[in-house]
Amino acid sequence: MPIIILNFESSDPKEKIKLFNAALVDGYFTAPISFDELAAYSNVFLQHQALEQELEAKNNLLAKISMTDELMQIYNRRYLIKRIDEEIARIKRYHYPLSMIMVDIDYFKNINDRCGHSQGDIVLKKLANLIKDGIRNIDILCRYGGDEIVIISPHTNLESAQVLAERLKNKVKSYNFEEINPPLEVTLSLGVVSFPDNAELSFDIIVQALDKQLYKAKHGGRDKICAAEFQDIDLAG
Ligand code: GH3
Ligand code: MG
Repeated sequence: MPIIILNFESSDPKEKIKLFNAALVDGYFTAPISFDELAAYSNVFLQHQALEQELEAKNNLLAKISMTDELMQIYNRRYLIKRIDEEIARIKRYHYPLSMIMVDIDYFKNINDRCGHSQGDIVLKKLANLIKDGIRNIDILCRYGGDEIVIISPHTNLESAQVLAERLKNKVKSYNFEEINPPLEVTLSLGVVSFPDNAELSFDIIVQALDKQLYKAKHGGRDKICAAEFQDIDLAG
């Protein structure tokens, strides 16, 4: 709604400037002014406003697209990098527990080979939905790449993150992927790490730690969870 002042006395230009600078008015006229002139001014203002709103909606859409994985419709790797940096800063400031889970489908290449790439895409989409429905609102779900997903769980210690990982593993395993012909069982390997607020952390170090745990789960026979406190992981080994 435009705010237009119509002054019936002669106006002080300084007063006008003050009001415009403070963004308190959209128009300032001194009487006499015709109704048509006022209506024309309002129309121009409303057209500008509509264009601004359209631009804002387009910018919001662009921002959303730039941080979303098109296939899984969850956050993408670009967002994951940014969000991990923010979470590191937050735990250093507010000192709350932070855990992350790296999820990887077992033998996904076989699913692609057996059922075709487009059916593999359906499995990836469904997996993202199953996980989305199994986490809390404050957990952040991101596609790391390929068949790998990272869940950031703020305010979550290692024990609770393990419970969450177990629940997700069982949920996916017991889901009968009927979207695929013939239906198939999908199992997951999961690496879980809890991060302290006093360690030197970065995106690369966090991913390295998660990868280590995931690697252990894979080499432990797959369909498994490997969990550890960050300080107990030997990144060099
Ligand atoms: P592992 O148990 O060791 O994880 O075996 P894997 O076969 O799952 O091996 P890996 O995780 O390394 O392979 C992931 C495969 O995912 C490789 C690639 O062909 C496939 N892939 C990556 N992105 C997509 C995608 O967007 N759609 C489909 N359908 N497949 C993808
Ligand atoms: Mg895999």
